[in-house]
Amino acid sequence: MTPVDCFVCAARCEQVPSLPWYDVPVHRVRRGGVTLVGVGAIVPGYLLACPEPHVRSLAALPRSMVDPFLSLVDVAVADLTREFASVLLFEHGGCNAAVHTSACIDHAHLHLWAIAGHVTLTLPRYWQTYPDLRAFLGDPRRAELRSYLLHSDQGGSIMVGPDVRTPQFFRRQVAAQLGHPDAWDYAACPFEQCMRDTRDKLTGAVGHHHAG
Ligand SMILES: [Zn+2]
Ligand SMILES: [Zn+2]
Repeated sequence: MTPVDCFVCAARCEQVPSLPWYDVPVHRVRRGGVTLVGVGAIVPGYLLACPEPHVRSLAALPRSMVDPFLSLVDVAVADLTREFASVLLFEHGGCNAAVHTSACIDHAHLHLWAIAGHVTLTLPRYWQTYPDLRAFLGDPRRAELRSYLLHSDQGGSIMVGPDVRTPQFFRRQVAAQLGHPDAWDYAACPFEQCMRDTRDKLTGAVGHHHAG
């Protein structure tokens, strides 16, 4: 896939007026990437943090891009925490869209969602736990990961394990624990009002320059 076919690359590169409102970046960090509002926002406070290069997972992020990406995540998490609540991180990592897996988009993205007080994610099996995202991205062995799942826990540790090849695996857990077990599919259940609430609170867009 070339970046021109990728809505994340388009969101980063194209002029804002040509983008649908939900593809207008909420945060931009030079060399770090962008955040976009998460589709399927069962509750508001949901972003995708997307690194600048078109790589298939955070495991494949070039080392030179790690610090800028962490800066993006830091600012987004701080904003979500201030405007909503403490933030849960998860990634359906490295899943090839051509294979039936948990991936939702083939440009690497970390889900950031202000639901850490209400949702506990689990995997059937783990390979490794890291004290935080920086430690995971600092592990040179991450480059060997092809397909994996990653989530944070209540203490902020990052847990990594094998992909279980269930589409939107973590979103199913989130939906069930938020009391909407049938609303896990972001495409079927976008929760547009919560997406707009997320955008408006984080950008201060209420009352001026609505993109749509
Ligand atoms: Zn892309
Ligand atoms: Zn995803």
